[in-house]
Amino acid sequence: MDASDFESIVEAVREFISREVVPREDEIEAEDAVPDFLSEEAAKMGLFGYALPTEYGGLGFTMEEEVRLAFELGRTTPSFRSLFGTNNGIAGQAIANYGTEEQKRDYLPRLASGEAVASFALTEAEAGSDPSGMRTRARRDGGDYVINGSKRFITNASRATVLVVFARTDPDATGSKGISAFLVDSTTPGITIGPHDKKMGQQGAWSSEVFFDDVRVPEQTLIGGEEEIGYRAAMKSVTKGRMTIAALCVGMADRIVEEASAYAVDNRQGGTPIGEFQLVQGLLAESQTEYLAGRALCLESARGYDEGRDMRQGPAVAKLFCSEMVNKVADRGVQVLGGMGYMRGVPIERFYRDARLFRIYEGTSEIQKVVIARQMLAAARAKVPA
Ligand SMILES: Cc1cc2nc3c(=O)[nH]c(=O)nc-3n(C[C@H](O)[C@H](O)[C@H](O)COP(=O)(O)OP(=O)(O)OC[C@H]3O[C@@H](n4cnc5c(N)ncnc54)[C@H](O)[C@@H]3O)c2cc1C
Repeated sequence: MDASDFESIVEAVREFISREVVPREDEIEAEDAVPDFLSEEAAKMGLFGYALPTEYGGLGFTMEEEVRLAFELGRTTPSFRSLFGTNNGIAGQAIANYGTEEQKRDYLPRLASGEAVASFALTEAEAGSDPSGMRTRARRDGGDYVINGSKRFITNASRATVLVVFARTDPDATGSKGISAFLVDSTTPGITIGPHDKKMGQQGAWSSEVFFDDVRVPEQTLIGGEEEIGYRAAMKSVTKGRMTIAALCVGMADRIVEEASAYAVDNRQGGTPIGEFQLVQGLLAESQTEYLAGRALCLESARGYDEGRDMRQGPAVAKLFCSEMVNKVADRGVQVLGGMGYMRGVPIERFYRDARLFRIYEGTSEIQKVVIARQMLAAARAKVPA
């Protein structure tokens, strides 16, 4: 994309968020729902397909561009981005990277326009950090597969037109082997979507359990037209998604620092603005430093991803650092506001709860450490003379 076109999009999104989304954050929190018109406007701005390939109707953003956009999206309630997060991210990428030409033509243009929503159904009760414990099965039956099992915490399941469902097609395989991915129409008989999960934060972003009871799908729904590519497809989607989550954390930290600084200037104790107290300045300065470090790390990791230099460790490092960072920034933000920081209706209190999820989904912080250390040890082993 032409650089000036890209800058115009980022500017338009920033302006839209501050004009239309920020003023509705309390309403979204209270209703646990994002007003439909915000979704419609997001669709008009191309936000349902910014990361999808241009030949299928998306904007084809590079990773660096995605990260720049996510810095803006992170400045408000994560529920806004969650409307189109699965289309661009985990679910849409599985189709874009591994779908057959027919599957891409069938789904991607509709996902990019916002006409359809895709959901990514991987996690199960005993298959979260380690999907190899997956129990959902897809049994071949003539030209069909019959899926049985259940998934939990599935974002946008209740909005989904299509579910990217991961299931074991080889009952004898263990670990990451024998897992396949299917594009399942959400209205297929045998699918039940549970009620929205009641969460600590991120109200308006919906997740649910999904149950599959003898769900019969034709073999054409097998992603890529072949079995056993499910685990690879899932990991590629999740790894890329880590960069986006990292950048959302940076955006949220930016907003928290801004809110806390404004409060410190405006509020007094003993007649002195609290921002004049050096210990309060310390809280602000530490947060600003970590926010800027996270921003720089995201941009550098995104460039490494785009250039193919580092498509695994960089996203894990960025996600680990930025998700931990925004939780510390939110905690300091509450501290700067004192008692007000603990009150409902104050943005920093809400962000404090919203931020917690970033350390858990698309790989917990512990899993990021495992991924990072594995890469380090592999590099070290490669240097040991034979
Ligand atoms: C709101 C929300 C939305 C979500 N959306 C989706 C979605 O759209 N699609 C989807 O498929 N999933 C989704 N998830 C699931 C999410 O990705 C998982 O919750 C996450 O990967 C952690 O898995 P788990 O919950 O099973 O926890 P567990 O894996 O049981 O982890 C529990 C603890 O054990 C630690 N642990 C586990 N394994 C190891 C290890 N090998 N080494 C060290 N520590 C370890 C973890 O770090 C954690 O501290 C969502 C979750 C939430 C809460």
